Amino acid sequence: MTFAATVLTLYPEMFPGPLGVSLAGRALGEGRWSCEAVQIRDFATDRHRSVDDTPAGGGAGMVLRADVLAAALDSVADAEDLRRPAIALTPRGTPLTQARVRALAAGPGVILLCGRFEGFDERLFAARAIEQVSLGDIVLSGGEPAALALLDACVRLLPGVMGAPSSGVDESFETGLLEYPHYTRPVEWEGRSIPEVLRSGDHARIAAWRKQQAATDTRLRRPDLWERHGGARGPSPSGARRETDG
Ligand code: SAH
Repeated sequence: MTFAATVLTLYPEMFPGPLGVSLAGRALGEGRWSCEAVQIRDFATDRHRSVDDTPAGGGAGMVLRADVLAAALDSVADAEDLRRPAIALTPRGTPLTQARVRALAAGPGVILLCGRFEGFDERLFAARAIEQVSLGDIVLSGGEPAALALLDACVRLLPGVMGAPSSGVDESFETGLLEYPHYTRPVEWEGRSIPEVLRSGDHARIAAWRKQQAATDTRLRRPDLWERHGGARGPSPSGARRETDG
């Protein structure tokens, strides 16, 4: 099954953009996913082809019109058996998680709405079934980089896209924790060694060390994740010390 992405945007030339190269680009070439960009402006009805207007109540910037966006969205009519979720990228949305990405990647695809200016006329969300998703607590100038990030995260999970089928399972967030740190040759670099345990060949010890590091790093760097994971009830990070020399 092909994962079908349709992106509603004022800048269709941004797609597939960076997703046209590397793993995602190869997968696109192989037909594992498709990427269609729809120009929102094509659905403007006035002679100036306007897609935005000034904010009701005053204030800076411009707001994307609900009527134009709804027309663009309605033009992407999915067949009954291929109902893709429509997702608007907005800092007001639910923060994107790996769990949501996994669920999306397992489905038929996505319809993405990219905002610009001050964002969308809120009535759009009352009138159509549209999920609102945020890339994080940052403000971008447009939804396009967020759409590209969401698609990248989905595409790498599609069957046959990543080299080793197992390389996704240990990853950060997949277990509810950050991933353990990685090292590679040279063994000695600027006076620093790869932790001894990783060179021991003792797979049980290595697995235990990695689990411990993942717990410690999550607790220190992402107390929010650690808390959700079960905090003190999770795997104990006590006594874990990052081995950098040895
Ligand atoms: N006035 C808005 C920000 C608009 S930024 C506010 O303060 O909430 C313009 C567009 O960029 C948004 O409509 C959205 O599509 C996109 N955007 C900005 N930050 C984003 C984020 N963190 N996640 C997803 N999309 C974002």
